[in-house]
Amino acid sequence: LVSRELQAHDSVVSIGGVKVGGGNFTVIAGPCSVESQEQLFGVANMLTQHNIPLLRGGAFKPRTSPYSFQGLGVEGLELLKSAKAKFNMPVVSEIIDPNDADLMYDYIDCFQIGARNMQNFRLLEAVGKQDKTVLLKRGMSATIEELLLAAEYIINAGNSNVILCERGIRTFETATRNTLDLSAVAYLKEKSHLPVFVDPSHGTGIKSLINPLSRAAVAVGADGIIVEAHLNPKEALSDGHQALTAEDFATLMADIKPFITAA
Ligand code: PEP
Ligand code: MN
Repeated sequence: LVSRELQAHDSVVSIGGVKVGGGNFTVIAGPCSVESQEQLFGVANMLTQHNIPLLRGGAFKPRTSPYSFQGLGVEGLELLKSAKAKFNMPVVSEIIDPNDADLMYDYIDCFQIGARNMQNFRLLEAVGKQDKTVLLKRGMSATIEELLLAAEYIINAGNSNVILCERGIRTFETATRNTLDLSAVAYLKEKSHLPVFVDPSHGTGIKSLINPLSRAAVAVGADGIIVEAHLNPKEALSDGHQALTAEDFATLMADIKPFITAA
């Protein structure tokens, strides 16, 4: 179902009315985790100044350590919903439990499946039964074929609104947090009709590399990027080291703006 042999033209999906894919290059940005109204609205306000159409923010966080901040849960979803209303930005947020699908449906516009859950088949089926777009991240040790088969689970369950996302894979290299596999993007664009995004934030884990890798994402034919931003990264409750400040974000946008379109 994901194959270009079946459908030659690029799929276009909608996130709360914002069209993604099919020649648009779309930027999704926001904090790793929703932390407070002040934090979320501050970032959203900064993003609207750059006409960023879509806001990201985790309410349920799949953390490597059980002692790390696990997200605000429903309170985080409430904040995302109010940010959406205030700034007119549809929101993307991660789902980690199949039982949360109906609950989250009322708050968010796009379900993110995180790298750690790419092969959580019950979760894939749960979002496959919804009609909102799913941003499916590649598992950190998943092959491209496994990513495509994970997408197949979602579409086979009834939801064809899927975006694939390359977010870096585990290799022997330790200089970067992950190894951003841009060849996967070119390969996926060739083999599949689904929109393909790049996450340079988790893909590198290094703030200064987000800008060059975002430009590389444009060059390799990605349909967009999902980027982490925070007005005060030092105070961030997760992934502060890779969050772009307002100043970093302005530089990034100046560098990629010529390529950005959003419908
Ligand atoms: C995230 O987007 O904050 C996240 C946890 O991403 P990933 O699943 O790619 O690690
Ligand atoms: Mn993160």
